[in-house]
Amino acid sequence: MTDFSTPETRMYVDGAFLEARSGATFDNVNPATEEVIGQVADGSSADMDAAIACARRAFDETSWSTDPSFRKRCLEQLQAGLEKEKEALRQQTVAEVGAPIQLTYGPQGDSVIADLAWVAEQIDRFEWERELGRHDFFGMSSRRVVWKEPIGVVGAISPWNFPLQVNLAKVGPALAAGNTVVLKPAPDTPWNATFIARVVAEYTDIPPGVFNVVTAADPAEVGEVLISDPRVDMISFTGSTAVGRRIMAAGSETLKKVFLELGGKSVNLILDDADFSTALPGAATVCMHGGQGCAMTTRLLLPRSRYEEGVETVKAVFEAVPYGDPMDPANLQGPQISRRQQERVLDYVRKGVEEGATLLVGGGVPDHLSRGFFVEPTLFGDVDNAMTIAQEEIFGPVLVVIPYDDDDDAVRISNDSIYGLSGAIASGSEERALKVARRIRTGTLGINGGMWFGPDSPFGGYKQSGVGREMGLEGFSEYLETKSIGLPA
Ligand code: NAD
Repeated sequence: MTDFSTPETRMYVDGAFLEARSGATFDNVNPATEEVIGQVADGSSADMDAAIACARRAFDETSWSTDPSFRKRCLEQLQAGLEKEKEALRQQTVAEVGAPIQLTYGPQGDSVIADLAWVAEQIDRFEWERELGRHDFFGMSSRRVVWKEPIGVVGAISPWNFPLQVNLAKVGPALAAGNTVVLKPAPDTPWNATFIARVVAEYTDIPPGVFNVVTAADPAEVGEVLISDPRVDMISFTGSTAVGRRIMAAGSETLKKVFLELGGKSVNLILDDADFSTALPGAATVCMHGGQGCAMTTRLLLPRSRYEEGVETVKAVFEAVPYGDPMDPANLQGPQISRRQQERVLDYVRKGVEEGATLLVGGGVPDHLSRGFFVEPTLFGDVDNAMTIAQEEIFGPVLVVIPYDDDDDAVRISNDSIYGLSGAIASGSEERALKVARRIRTGTLGINGGMWFGPDSPFGGYKQSGVGREMGLEGFSEYLETKSIGLPA
């Protein structure tokens, strides 16, 4: 039996763990300590080509796509295996991702594993077939049936920020729907994907070629093969809007289905009748996991009439954010994933100051953390929505506070963004908050602290935050084709 407490450093192709054909490897670095914690196979275009060929063959030549009860059993085995090995995964996630350990009991671990059960259940519950009844067309009477069928080979490309959540949100429904998968994880968090592969190998009857993982240091090489290969039917991508644009362009050559979950710059809109003592402490959630979350509400909109009062409260909240060692269960915020990300965040802070925003809290590298890619919880006041720090996704523990005049002005500022992924509204009146919610162009919204997230809740973006939905029945359907059948009535 495999020892899950040691990392899997190899790729997984056609049911076998393999070194890269070139023999090359690259370092995996702990972002909290800057230590190299191990190696991982550095795949090339030849490795990706082989994985695509296996996934294609498994789709075309095995009964995987047509045997839902077998798939259900396999998905349940995967869920049970992850559940069994979750303590090893927890330790690895803290080391590899720099995720605060408290989050591994939720969206960086346990709750994601539990949610996979919902996906497996859909295999029995989903409406795979729909009768349309009779229709007369050119004198011929027919009865019609609509079938839902898997798309084929899915190329899944994931980011580093919540690797287990994103990997399983793609792999779970893609496999449940009957597709085969080639997963390309981010180079910063490759072991999460190879961990899933190990569970597939050890605990499930998933046949060789149905699920494959190709790791690589340079996304441009293997990623480009995956997104342009005609044997791949669909790309399911989560990552930055810039790479999303590239994937859509490259996918157009072979007219692939492209599903995109991209960036965000969501608002936390506090209406003037809100109770600040309950609404504002939640503003600090932008520091969770170093602000490395696409759905975080990184623009705080305060009514001008209560602006000073609001800023004072948020300032106190930010000064008290627990951050540092991700192994410490008290910490909400750990490091940024890499030196590059740390520098990117600090660059945005400099830009904010240059453009005239007031730095109220943080803005630098913490003195007391000499190792690791940490950034202080950072709060900017007097921000205009036209500033770079209000328009661009920083992906760091940075909140910008923007004053507004009235509800119309708040809605205008909320929608003045290329993004539309998430958001929050606080008000003394739920009715008023819901009225405003109707006017905000975004894929998800929490009202008065309510949380929209769940395995059955579709998640995704309006505008340049994405195309399509992950999770929920909408997410399941993304991985399906539609076939209409006509029969003589
Ligand atoms: P990224 O776009 O740099 O990389 C994402 C993935 O794409 C990685 O696996 C990367 O290796 C790969 N990639 C990069 N260039 C590629 C190319 N040319 N061809 C194919 N693959 C390529 O994003 P990131 O820095 O890893 O993650 C942060 C971004 O992800 C943020 O913008 C964040 O908002 C977004 N994100 C969105 C969601 C969502 O659900 N909307 C969830 C998590 C993260």
